Amino acid sequence: MAPEVLGRFIDAAVAAIRDHAAHLTELDRAVGDGDHGINMLRGFDAVAEARDEICGLQLPDALQKIGMTLVMKIGGAAGPLYGSLFMAMGKAAPESLGGVAEIAAALHAGVDGVKKRGKSEAGEKTMLDVLVPVTEALESAVAEGAGLDVAQARVREAATRGLESTRAMLATKGRASFLGERSIGHIDPGARSSQILVNCACDIAVALSDSQVEPA
Ligand code: ADP
Ligand code: MG
Repeated sequence: MAPEVLGRFIDAAVAAIRDHAAHLTELDRAVGDGDHGINMLRGFDAVAEARDEICGLQLPDALQKIGMTLVMKIGGAAGPLYGSLFMAMGKAAPESLGGVAEIAAALHAGVDGVKKRGKSEAGEKTMLDVLVPVTEALESAVAEGAGLDVAQARVREAATRGLESTRAMLATKGRASFLGERSIGHIDPGARSSQILVNCACDIAVALSDSQVEPA
């Protein structure tokens, strides 16, 4: 089951990044150097090329392979950061996809990897302003014993709120920090790409929870 779910995630992520590449670049033009969409597209095109190899691996190795591919191909600041996210998730992931609790634990480890690599925290107008609240929403859903359907809805909402929260923030990390006060009023491009990827994972969670419903 793990390779099939991962394959679906890869397909959805690649399609979403292709669809939104121009938009991500546009966002990066306002606060950075206008390459975030191009960078993400290069990375996810390479993941698409390695899809069959990735899907033939156990989950930890598959996530690490995605991470390494992203580090090598995205480049810029986002490459090592997304690379760290997937590689650290891979290190923490079980052999095959478990329940929501295992996904939450792996995501937590992945986000810790981003923080360590970026020397950053939430509140600095970066991808962490989506990834941190998403992880918290998932963990609190797990703590309450919520199912996949409820958990994904809360995660999706946290991602959108997190993304919107970057608009009012002053950037203190990455290229946007060079703008100082002028970074205020714009959404962070990396936060948007993270929200897009989180939504892809949520779409797959919906499809899975639907398919687990017993026919009447
Ligand atoms: P570059 O800034 O090198 O052109 P990209 O444009 O691809 O790279 O990626 C920029 C995104 O990377 C930002 O929008 C932000 O979300 C993220 N980012 C940059 N620096 C950091 C950091 N130190 N910690 C977390 N995320 C960061
Ligand atoms: Mg850029």
